[in-house]
Amino acid sequence: MKIASEVLDMLKQEIPDIEYNRYVKQLRYDAKYSNDMTALFIAPNPLVANWIKNKYTKKIEHLFEVKGKKVDVKIIAKNAKETKGKTKKSEQPKKVINSMLNPSHTFDNFMVGGSNQFAYAAAKSVSEKPGEVYNPLFIYGGVGLGKTHLMQAAGNVLQNQGKNVIYTTVEQFLNDFLRHVRNQTMERFKEKYRNCDVLLIDDIQFLSNKDTIQEEFFHTFEALKNDKKQIILTADKHPKQIGGLEKRLQSRFEWGLVADIQPPELETKIAIIKKKCEINKVKLSDDIVNYIATVIESNVREIEGILSKLHAYSQLMHVDITLEFTKQILKDQIQENRANLTLDTITKTVAKELNIKPSEIKSKSRSKNIVYARRIAIYLCRELTQNTMPQLAQYFGMKDHTAISHMLKKINELIQNDEDFKTKIEELTNKLTSSSQI
Ligand code: ADP
Ligand code: MG
Repeated sequence: MKIASEVLDMLKQEIPDIEYNRYVKQLRYDAKYSNDMTALFIAPNPLVANWIKNKYTKKIEHLFEVKGKKVDVKIIAKNAKETKGKTKKSEQPKKVINSMLNPSHTFDNFMVGGSNQFAYAAAKSVSEKPGEVYNPLFIYGGVGLGKTHLMQAAGNVLQNQGKNVIYTTVEQFLNDFLRHVRNQTMERFKEKYRNCDVLLIDDIQFLSNKDTIQEEFFHTFEALKNDKKQIILTADKHPKQIGGLEKRLQSRFEWGLVADIQPPELETKIAIIKKKCEINKVKLSDDIVNYIATVIESNVREIEGILSKLHAYSQLMHVDITLEFTKQILKDQIQENRANLTLDTITKTVAKELNIKPSEIKSKSRSKNIVYARRIAIYLCRELTQNTMPQLAQYFGMKDHTAISHMLKKINELIQNDEDFKTKIEELTNKLTSSSQI
């Protein structure tokens, strides 16, 4: 499609040349498997596919929108599609591509440790007895800890048995809903979501404060649940902690089983890195694996980003991956993640997380929850950006830099003495500095 190449040209204008030439240039638009709702791009290998997927999917979708086309952008590796193609021929035509499950999100590829074994076991039992044991299964935890992977692993098992599995995000579900409302084809919408065998909805926290879609989702949920069709949901927090959610939905989310995923311990991280190296055919010595596992705190997606960078650079520059080289790449990566953070992004993220408006953070309000959010935002802005105290004072509408300095002192005390506050800061730092945010 012409638009696809125009979109890639537009992207070229917006991103660093080095990134375009190294990664994006290798993308091919796949007209055959794309349709009105989905634009499929093929990358030559999983490393390039993952790199672009994590960093630019949203942007590419946005550029399509600029061109007047609202589509979900999928980026997959060449081989992934070939294997998909094969299963397609022998088993279920069409379904595989439609559901858009990532075929490498399997239970075998998922490394289990104390941090995730509960969620793993729950997803596994659901895949063995769909609709019977835990319905819905609700998996929650921080960014990049494997929620989507686990939910899709269950989805892949069931899809391979010929079940009609729908995987979607709240955003896609909402877009789909609006499109059908616009086209007056609501019956088709209902048929699609209420007649599937398994419904996977990712990042359900985005239902927060969206009343219309909560209503629609409620009916979908009821219909599927009554038919004993399996529902799996993920979110970044426990249902009780998702604000702006109707009570009836919140209670239903807890009907089945709520399973959390915690950040992986060191051994699990090491196992994950080794697995990713095996899948992507990257060779790393044990000291490098250990180094990466120690430096990257929790986000597994970030680990993948590092591996693809290491691989790409070493190929490009014809050098072996040494510990020194790894240290340099990691340093660059951390700086790159932070360089992209602005005061606005941080304030918006904090506001969203705490269910208030960004303008309230910058206001003079003394109400407790706003003061709390303001402290967190100021602390993170100071830690994660290069802005000076006078710049922060100006941005947050405070008198001068001494006011900021005073507040930072107070915040440091809080971090020492208040466990909850400290955890919130850590969670948000993780969220902001993970590559998926950017
Ligand atoms: P989330 O949905 O929680 O943000 P994802 O499921 O997208 O995270 O995981 C991010 C990446 O990390 C994925 O590529 C996934 O395959 C990988 N990953 C996360 N946890 C594990 C694990 N325990 N074993 C193997 N890969 C993992
Ligand atoms: Mg996810």
